Amino acid sequence: MIEVEGLTKRYGDKVAVDRLTFSVRPGVVTGFLGPNGAGKSTTMRMILGLDHPTEGDVRIDGTHYDRLKDPLTYVGALLDAKAVHGGRSAYHHLLCLAQSNGIPRRRVAEVLDTVGLTAVARKKTKGFSLGMGQRLGIAAALLGDPRILMFDEPVNGLDPEGIHWIRTLMKSLAAQGRTVFVSSHLMSEMALTAEHLVVIGQGRLLADLSMSDFIRQNSRSYVRLRSPQRERLLDVLHQAGITVVEAGGGALEVEGGKAEQIGELAARNGLVLHELSPQQASLEEAFMRLTAGAVEYHAHTGQDAEPQDWGAGWKEA
Ligand code: ADP
Ligand code: MG
Repeated sequence: MIEVEGLTKRYGDKVAVDRLTFSVRPGVVTGFLGPNGAGKSTTMRMILGLDHPTEGDVRIDGTHYDRLKDPLTYVGALLDAKAVHGGRSAYHHLLCLAQSNGIPRRRVAEVLDTVGLTAVARKKTKGFSLGMGQRLGIAAALLGDPRILMFDEPVNGLDPEGIHWIRTLMKSLAAQGRTVFVSSHLMSEMALTAEHLVVIGQGRLLADLSMSDFIRQNSRSYVRLRSPQRERLLDVLHQAGITVVEAGGGALEVEGGKAEQIGELAARNGLVLHELSPQQASLEEAFMRLTAGAVEYHAHTGQDAEPQDWGAGWKEA
Protein backbone atom coordinates (compact mmCIF):
# COMPACT_ATOMS: atom_id res chain seq x y z
CA MET A 1 0.00 0.00 0.00
CA ILE A 2 1.25 3.47 -0.93
CA GLU A 3 -0.44 6.42 0.78
CA VAL A 4 0.12 9.94 -0.47
CA GLU A 5 -1.37 12.79 1.50
CA GLY A 6 -1.40 16.46 0.58
CA LEU A 7 1.78 15.88 -1.39
CA THR A 8 3.16 19.10 -2.88
CA LYS A 9 6.39 19.95 -4.69
CA ARG A 10 7.35 23.44 -5.72
CA TYR A 11 10.40 24.34 -7.78
CA GLY A 12 10.64 28.10 -7.24
CA ASP A 13 7.35 29.49 -8.53
CA LYS A 14 6.52 26.30 -10.40
CA VAL A 15 4.10 23.96 -8.65
CA ALA A 16 5.02 20.52 -10.02
CA VAL A 17 2.81 18.54 -7.63
CA ASP A 18 -0.16 20.20 -6.00
CA ARG A 19 -1.75 18.75 -2.83
CA LEU A 20 -2.08 15.19 -4.14
CA THR A 21 -3.91 12.71 -1.97
CA PHE A 22 -4.48 9.11 -3.05
CA SER A 23 -3.70 5.51 -2.11
CA VAL A 24 -2.40 2.68 -4.22
CA ARG A 25 -3.75 -0.67 -3.12
CA PRO A 26 -2.29 -4.16 -3.51
CA GLY A 27 -3.61 -6.82 -5.87
CA VAL A 28 -4.31 -4.65 -8.91
CA VAL A 29 -2.27 -2.63 -11.36
CA THR A 30 -2.91 1.06 -10.67
CA GLY A 31 -2.26 3.35 -13.61
CA PHE A 32 -0.86 6.81 -12.95
CA LEU A 33 -2.05 8.78 -15.95
CA GLY A 34 -1.38 12.35 -16.95
CA PRO A 35 -0.08 14.43 -19.85
CA ASN A 36 3.63 15.21 -20.09
CA GLY A 37 4.68 17.57 -17.33
CA ALA A 38 1.71 16.62 -15.11
CA GLY A 39 3.98 15.69 -12.21
CA LYS A 40 4.04 11.89 -12.40
CA SER A 41 7.82 11.42 -12.20
CA THR A 42 8.13 14.03 -9.46
CA THR A 43 5.46 12.22 -7.42
CA MET A 44 7.17 8.87 -7.91
CA ARG A 45 10.52 10.30 -6.87
CA MET A 46 8.95 11.67 -3.69
CA ILE A 47 7.35 8.29 -2.95
CA LEU A 48 10.85 6.81 -3.15
CA GLY A 49 12.38 9.52 -1.00
CA LEU A 50 14.59 10.70 -3.90
CA ASP A 51 12.98 14.14 -3.76
CA HIS A 52 11.73 15.95 -0.68
CA PRO A 53 8.13 17.16 -0.66
CA THR A 54 7.59 20.87 -0.09
CA GLU A 55 4.51 19.80 1.87
CA GLY A 56 2.64 16.61 2.56
CA ASP A 57 3.44 13.06 3.32
CA VAL A 58 4.14 9.65 1.77
CA ARG A 59 3.83 6.32 3.54
CA ILE A 60 4.81 2.90 2.32
CA ASP A 61 2.97 0.20 4.22
CA GLY A 62 2.54 2.81 6.95
CA THR A 63 6.21 3.87 7.14
CA HIS A 64 8.29 6.66 5.57
CA TYR A 65 10.68 5.44 2.90
CA ASP A 66 13.79 6.73 4.66
CA ARG A 67 12.85 4.78 7.81
CA LEU A 68 12.62 1.47 5.94
CA LYS A 69 15.45 -0.93 6.61
CA ASP A 70 16.71 -2.40 3.30
CA PRO A 71 14.18 -0.38 1.28
CA LEU A 72 14.66 -2.52 -1.86
CA THR A 73 12.91 -5.34 -0.02
CA TYR A 74 9.83 -3.12 0.40
CA VAL A 75 9.73 -1.12 -2.83
CA GLY A 76 11.20 -1.81 -6.24
CA ALA A 77 11.15 0.89 -8.87
CA LEU A 78 12.01 1.43 -12.50
CA LEU A 79 12.52 5.15 -12.92
CA ASP A 80 15.07 5.70 -15.64
CA ALA A 81 16.42 2.60 -17.31
CA LYS A 82 19.34 4.52 -18.83
CA ALA A 83 20.79 5.19 -15.36
CA VAL A 84 22.79 1.94 -15.46
CA HIS A 85 26.57 2.26 -15.66
CA GLY A 86 27.80 0.57 -18.78
CA GLY A 87 31.08 -0.86 -17.56
CA ARG A 88 29.63 -3.69 -15.50
CA SER A 89 27.90 -6.84 -16.60
CA ALA A 90 24.20 -7.25 -15.88
CA TYR A 91 25.10 -9.91 -13.34
CA HIS A 92 27.55 -7.66 -11.46
CA HIS A 93 25.25 -4.68 -11.56
CA LEU A 94 22.56 -6.73 -9.82
CA LEU A 95 25.01 -8.44 -7.48
CA CYS A 96 26.27 -5.04 -6.18
CA LEU A 97 22.70 -3.94 -5.57
CA ALA A 98 21.92 -7.19 -3.78
CA GLN A 99 24.98 -6.99 -1.56
CA SER A 100 24.35 -3.41 -0.50
CA ASN A 101 20.73 -4.18 0.37
CA GLY A 102 21.04 -7.42 2.32
CA ILE A 103 19.54 -9.48 -0.50
CA PRO A 104 20.74 -13.08 -0.97
CA ARG A 105 22.99 -13.70 -3.99
CA ARG A 106 20.69 -16.39 -5.44
CA ARG A 107 18.09 -13.69 -6.20
CA VAL A 108 20.39 -12.32 -8.92
CA ALA A 109 20.07 -15.43 -11.07
CA GLU A 110 16.36 -15.66 -10.30
CA VAL A 111 15.53 -12.14 -11.47
CA LEU A 112 17.80 -12.44 -14.53
CA ASP A 113 15.74 -15.48 -15.45
CA THR A 114 12.42 -13.68 -14.80
CA VAL A 115 13.32 -10.86 -17.17
CA GLY A 116 14.90 -13.13 -19.78
CA LEU A 117 18.49 -11.83 -19.53
CA THR A 118 20.21 -15.03 -18.36
CA ALA A 119 21.94 -15.55 -21.71
CA VAL A 120 23.52 -12.07 -21.66
CA ALA A 121 24.10 -11.84 -17.89
CA ARG A 122 27.91 -11.67 -18.26
CA LYS A 123 27.88 -9.08 -21.04
CA LYS A 124 28.67 -5.44 -20.33
CA THR A 125 25.47 -3.42 -20.14
CA LYS A 126 26.77 -0.66 -22.38
CA GLY A 127 26.04 -2.89 -25.38
CA PHE A 128 22.43 -3.37 -24.28
CA SER A 129 19.50 -2.23 -26.40
CA LEU A 130 16.83 -0.02 -24.88
CA GLY A 131 14.65 -3.07 -24.33
CA MET A 132 17.45 -5.00 -22.60
CA GLY A 133 18.22 -1.98 -20.43
CA GLN A 134 14.55 -1.81 -19.50
CA ARG A 135 14.58 -5.51 -18.58
CA LEU A 136 17.68 -4.99 -16.45
CA GLY A 137 15.99 -2.07 -14.67
CA ILE A 138 13.01 -4.30 -13.96
CA ALA A 139 15.31 -7.07 -12.71
CA ALA A 140 16.75 -4.55 -10.23
CA ALA A 141 13.26 -3.55 -9.13
CA LEU A 142 12.35 -7.20 -8.51
CA LEU A 143 15.61 -8.10 -6.76
CA GLY A 144 14.44 -7.55 -3.18
CA ASP A 145 11.17 -9.43 -3.86
CA PRO A 146 9.29 -6.27 -2.79
CA ARG A 147 5.57 -6.13 -2.13
CA ILE A 148 5.40 -2.74 -3.84
CA LEU A 149 6.54 -1.95 -7.39
CA MET A 150 6.62 1.32 -9.27
CA PHE A 151 7.30 1.75 -12.97
CA ASP A 152 7.66 5.20 -14.53
CA GLU A 153 6.62 5.10 -18.23
CA PRO A 154 8.06 1.59 -18.63
CA VAL A 155 6.94 1.05 -22.22
CA ASN A 156 8.46 4.24 -23.66
CA GLY A 157 10.57 3.41 -26.66
CA LEU A 158 9.97 -0.34 -26.55
CA ASP A 159 8.99 -2.54 -29.44
CA PRO A 160 5.57 -4.28 -29.40
CA GLU A 161 7.04 -7.52 -28.06
CA GLY A 162 8.72 -5.69 -25.16
CA ILE A 163 5.55 -3.73 -24.42
CA HIS A 164 3.50 -6.91 -24.33
CA TRP A 165 6.03 -8.53 -22.01
CA ILE A 166 5.96 -5.61 -19.56
CA ARG A 167 2.15 -5.53 -19.49
CA THR A 168 1.98 -9.24 -18.76
CA LEU A 169 4.64 -8.96 -16.06
CA MET A 170 2.85 -6.09 -14.29
CA LYS A 171 -0.43 -7.96 -14.27
CA SER A 172 1.17 -11.11 -12.92
CA LEU A 173 2.94 -9.14 -10.15
CA ALA A 174 -0.42 -7.64 -9.14
CA ALA A 175 -2.05 -11.08 -9.30
CA GLN A 176 0.53 -12.23 -6.73
CA GLY A 177 -0.98 -9.64 -4.38
CA ARG A 178 1.66 -6.95 -4.86
CA THR A 179 1.04 -3.23 -5.15
CA VAL A 180 1.85 -2.17 -8.72
CA PHE A 181 1.90 1.52 -9.64
CA VAL A 182 2.72 2.37 -13.25
CA SER A 183 2.76 5.74 -14.97
CA SER A 184 1.94 6.61 -18.55
CA HIS A 185 0.86 9.60 -20.60
CA LEU A 186 -1.11 7.25 -22.89
CA MET A 187 -4.70 6.38 -22.15
CA SER A 188 -4.48 3.48 -24.62
CA GLU A 189 -1.62 1.96 -22.60
CA MET A 190 -3.50 2.27 -19.32
CA ALA A 191 -6.65 0.78 -20.83
CA LEU A 192 -4.72 -2.41 -21.57
CA THR A 193 -2.85 -2.63 -18.28
CA ALA A 194 -4.51 -0.95 -15.33
CA GLU A 195 -7.53 -1.95 -13.28
CA HIS A 196 -7.48 1.26 -11.29
CA LEU A 197 -6.63 4.78 -12.44
CA VAL A 198 -5.19 7.84 -10.75
CA VAL A 199 -5.30 10.74 -13.21
CA ILE A 200 -3.41 14.00 -12.68
CA GLY A 201 -2.96 17.22 -14.64
CA GLN A 202 -0.71 20.15 -13.71
CA GLY A 203 0.12 18.41 -10.46
CA ARG A 204 -3.49 18.09 -9.35
CA LEU A 205 -5.64 15.03 -8.85
CA LEU A 206 -8.30 14.84 -11.57
CA ALA A 207 -9.70 11.37 -11.00
CA ASP A 208 -9.19 8.32 -8.79
CA LEU A 209 -11.44 5.48 -9.90
CA SER A 210 -11.57 1.95 -11.30
CA MET A 211 -10.91 1.50 -15.02
CA SER A 212 -14.37 -0.02 -15.45
CA ASP A 213 -15.99 3.06 -13.87
CA PHE A 214 -13.87 5.29 -16.06
CA ILE A 215 -15.01 3.39 -19.15
CA ARG A 216 -18.64 3.39 -18.02
CA GLN A 217 -18.62 7.11 -17.27
CA ASN A 218 -16.72 8.15 -20.34
CA SER A 219 -17.55 5.90 -23.23
CA ARG A 220 -20.49 7.48 -24.95
CA SER A 221 -22.15 5.10 -27.42
CA TYR A 222 -24.38 6.34 -30.21
CA VAL A 223 -25.55 5.50 -33.72
CA ARG A 224 -24.62 7.67 -36.67
CA LEU A 225 -27.19 8.08 -39.43
CA ARG A 226 -27.19 9.56 -42.89
CA SER A 227 -30.12 9.60 -45.24
CA PRO A 228 -31.07 11.40 -48.47
CA GLN A 229 -34.56 11.62 -46.91
CA ARG A 230 -33.30 13.40 -43.85
CA GLU A 231 -36.46 15.37 -42.98
CA ARG A 232 -38.71 12.31 -43.23
CA LEU A 233 -36.26 10.29 -41.18
CA LEU A 234 -36.29 12.97 -38.48
CA ASP A 235 -40.10 12.82 -38.40
CA VAL A 236 -40.16 9.03 -38.14
CA LEU A 237 -37.58 9.01 -35.34
CA HIS A 238 -39.41 11.79 -33.55
CA GLN A 239 -42.70 9.88 -33.74
CA ALA A 240 -40.99 6.80 -32.32
CA GLY A 241 -39.84 8.90 -29.35
CA ILE A 242 -36.15 8.66 -30.32
CA THR A 243 -34.01 11.70 -29.57
CA VAL A 244 -31.69 12.77 -32.38
CA VAL A 245 -28.92 15.34 -32.49
CA GLU A 246 -27.42 17.02 -35.54
CA ALA A 247 -23.84 15.90 -36.08
CA GLY A 248 -22.71 18.25 -38.84
CA GLY A 249 -22.21 17.39 -42.50
CA GLY A 250 -25.85 16.30 -42.68
CA ALA A 251 -25.31 13.35 -40.32
CA LEU A 252 -27.52 12.60 -37.33
CA GLU A 253 -26.67 10.92 -34.04
CA VAL A 254 -28.90 8.85 -31.80
CA GLU A 255 -27.53 8.69 -28.28
CA GLY A 256 -27.51 5.19 -26.78
CA GLY A 257 -29.60 3.86 -29.68
CA LYS A 258 -29.50 0.39 -31.24
CA ALA A 259 -28.60 0.25 -34.94
CA GLU A 260 -30.94 -2.74 -35.51
CA GLN A 261 -33.94 -0.92 -34.07
CA ILE A 262 -33.29 2.20 -36.14
CA GLY A 263 -32.61 0.23 -39.33
CA GLU A 264 -35.87 -1.70 -38.98
CA LEU A 265 -37.79 1.47 -38.25
CA ALA A 266 -36.36 3.07 -41.39
CA ALA A 267 -37.22 -0.02 -43.49
CA ARG A 268 -40.81 -0.11 -42.25
CA ASN A 269 -41.16 3.48 -43.38
CA GLY A 270 -39.47 2.89 -46.73
CA LEU A 271 -36.57 5.20 -45.95
CA VAL A 272 -33.16 4.96 -47.60
CA LEU A 273 -30.16 5.07 -45.26
CA HIS A 274 -26.68 5.88 -46.53
CA GLU A 275 -25.15 5.31 -43.14
CA LEU A 276 -26.20 3.40 -40.04
CA SER A 277 -23.16 2.94 -37.85
CA PRO A 278 -22.79 2.22 -34.15
CA GLN A 279 -20.11 4.48 -32.67
CA GLN A 280 -18.15 4.49 -29.44
CA ALA A 281 -16.45 7.65 -28.22
CA SER A 282 -12.84 6.73 -27.50
CA LEU A 283 -11.25 6.68 -24.07
CA GLU A 284 -8.68 9.03 -25.51
CA GLU A 285 -11.41 11.64 -26.01
CA ALA A 286 -12.47 11.13 -22.41
CA PHE A 287 -8.90 11.57 -21.18
CA MET A 288 -8.50 14.70 -23.32
CA ARG A 289 -11.69 16.17 -21.91
CA LEU A 290 -10.61 15.36 -18.37
CA THR A 291 -7.19 16.92 -18.75
CA ALA A 292 -8.24 19.82 -21.00
CA GLY A 293 -6.66 22.92 -19.57
CA ALA A 294 -4.19 20.80 -17.65
CA VAL A 295 -1.92 20.04 -20.60
CA GLU A 296 1.45 21.69 -20.53
CA TYR A 297 2.77 20.55 -23.86
CA HIS A 298 0.36 20.05 -26.72
CA ALA A 299 1.26 17.09 -28.88
CA HIS A 300 1.45 17.44 -32.63
CA THR A 301 -1.77 15.95 -34.01
CA GLY A 302 -1.00 15.42 -37.69
CA GLN A 303 -2.13 12.49 -39.83
CA ASP A 304 0.73 10.39 -38.57
CA ALA A 305 0.04 10.99 -34.90
CA GLU A 306 -1.55 8.69 -32.37
CA PRO A 307 -5.32 8.44 -32.94
CA GLN A 308 -4.95 4.99 -34.49
CA ASP A 309 -3.08 3.79 -31.43
CA TRP A 310 -5.80 5.06 -29.19
CA GLY A 311 -8.44 3.34 -31.27
CA ALA A 312 -6.64 0.02 -31.12
CA GLY A 313 -6.23 0.41 -27.37
CA TRP A 314 -9.90 0.98 -26.93
CA LYS A 315 -10.97 -2.00 -29.05
CA GLU A 316 -8.69 -4.43 -27.26
CA ALA A 317 -9.73 -3.19 -23.82
P1 ADP B 1 5.67 14.05 -15.80
O1 ADP B 1 6.53 12.96 -15.27
O2 ADP B 1 4.21 13.86 -15.49
O3 ADP B 1 5.87 14.30 -17.26
P2 ADP B 1 7.35 15.71 -14.15
O4 ADP B 1 7.12 15.21 -12.77
O5 ADP B 1 8.59 15.28 -14.81
O6 ADP B 1 6.08 15.41 -15.05
O7 ADP B 1 7.35 17.30 -14.15
C1 ADP B 1 6.32 18.07 -13.58
C2 ADP B 1 6.65 19.53 -13.73
O8 ADP B 1 7.71 19.87 -12.86
C3 ADP B 1 7.10 19.93 -15.13
O9 ADP B 1 6.60 21.20 -15.42
C4 ADP B 1 8.60 19.94 -15.00
O10 ADP B 1 9.15 20.85 -15.92
C5 ADP B 1 8.79 20.42 -13.56
N1 ADP B 1 10.04 19.92 -12.96
C6 ADP B 1 10.34 18.61 -12.76
N2 ADP B 1 11.55 18.49 -12.16
C7 ADP B 1 12.01 19.76 -11.99
C8 ADP B 1 13.22 20.32 -11.45
N3 ADP B 1 14.19 19.55 -10.93
N4 ADP B 1 13.33 21.66 -11.45
C9 ADP B 1 12.37 22.46 -11.95
N5 ADP B 1 11.22 22.00 -12.48
C10 ADP B 1 11.03 20.67 -12.51
MG1 MG C 1 7.76 11.65 -16.28
